[in-house]
Amino acid sequence: MQQFEFTGAVLPPAAEAARGSIRAFLAEEVAAARFQPHRCTWSSFDSGFSQRLGAAGFIGITWPEEYGGQSASSLTRFVITEEILAAGSPCGAHWIADRQSGPQILRHGSERAKREILPRIARGECYFGIGMSEPGAGSDLAAVRTRAEKVEGGWSISGQKIWTTNAHHVHYMIVLARTGERGESRHEGLTQFVVDMQTPGIEVRGIRDMAGNHEFNEVFFDNCFVPDDMVLGAEGDGWALVTGELAFERSGPDRFLSDYQLLVGLIDAVGPAPDRLQAVEIGRMVAELASLRRMSTSIAGMLGRGEQPVVPAAIVKDLGTGFEQALPEVARRLVDCEPSLGAEGPFAEALAETVLRAPSFSLRGGTREILRSMIARGIGLR
Ligand SMILES: Cc1cc2nc3c(=O)[nH]c(=O)nc-3n(C[C@H](O)[C@H](O)[C@H](O)COP(=O)(O)OP(=O)(O)OC[C@H]3O[C@@H](n4cnc5c(N)ncnc54)[C@H](O)[C@@H]3O)c2cc1C
Repeated sequence: MQQFEFTGAVLPPAAEAARGSIRAFLAEEVAAARFQPHRCTWSSFDSGFSQRLGAAGFIGITWPEEYGGQSASSLTRFVITEEILAAGSPCGAHWIADRQSGPQILRHGSERAKREILPRIARGECYFGIGMSEPGAGSDLAAVRTRAEKVEGGWSISGQKIWTTNAHHVHYMIVLARTGERGESRHEGLTQFVVDMQTPGIEVRGIRDMAGNHEFNEVFFDNCFVPDDMVLGAEGDGWALVTGELAFERSGPDRFLSDYQLLVGLIDAVGPAPDRLQAVEIGRMVAELASLRRMSTSIAGMLGRGEQPVVPAAIVKDLGTGFEQALPEVARRLVDCEPSLGAEGPFAEALAETVLRAPSFSLRGGTREILRSMIARGIGLR
């Protein structure tokens, strides 16, 4: 049975100082009308915003200076991240690179990958996609069929990925591919590759979601060459690597602040004299948010110590996305407002967009059933 606990993490003075700096940066952005607070923050792609954020020193901050970072603590990063999300800033372009691809390269990449890629991510100029899911291999990730064959000086990848967020915009994608036999555990023979999206042999086809947006894609690889020094870790280590990457993906404030602007809008819409039901429901949501924030802060501390808090991260994602999905329902109960994309006013617009996006919150990054099955195994119930 895996032991875990959410020890309280105290934010160090440097983290609180960073809160002042990032708030000042965001206030200036809003004052200059460079962005309008967005309803579903990290779904939005704005490379100009990411470049300004990078130039101001708010991306890749936990990495060593030699790779473009500032050797800051993961708790300082946590504070910057939560402020960026709470402000409703359009932070989606660099999000995956800063959250998981960069840390994955720092831990497992070659010296060339670290030197060439990490400083560009930190400057807000280089973006990543996640190449895990395939048709027939979503929840059952070990079933991936994309193959990489050894060739002179590198590897040749052929196969298909699906639901790849921003594949049509990004510079690189970390692809999980089969390089050997599955073995009895089914987890053997997998390897992760850093694939340059400009390489010949890659075709990206867009998929529209139910709100009509083009965010995710199908990606086809046909003998796409990847040099040896763009392999992450050792050949065959892919399962351990991808599991570690998911701990970065699942535990941050982006798992409970995706629609924070709707909570702000709800509180404004209810006004200073809520009735009893409104006070109880909003109080409950705010209390839940405070608990989630403490749990997520605790995981940021664990990640900073080099631990891989796989089960605690799954708990935060399951509870956090449940919170995010409950929010539009609570908003509909408390305020008489018909969600419609053509509706007038910021609250109605925010509600409509969140209602359309909310079902995806508990799918992206691993579904609720899969997370609960991992948690059950982690606490010895399976
Ligand atoms: C907005 C969004 C963005 C995404 N971005 C990316 C991306 O950038 N890169 C990427 O690789 N993927 C991405 N995904 C894909 C996402 O990771 C998968 O959708 C997810 O892992 C589920 O896989 P699936 O869609 O194949 O569903 P399936 O695995 O087919 O599951 C269908 C249903 O069956 C349930 N189920 C499956 N197996 C079990 C089981 N053993 N026990 C109980 N229930 C089970 C699931 O919980 C789910 O409810 C994204 C998805 C969304 C919605």
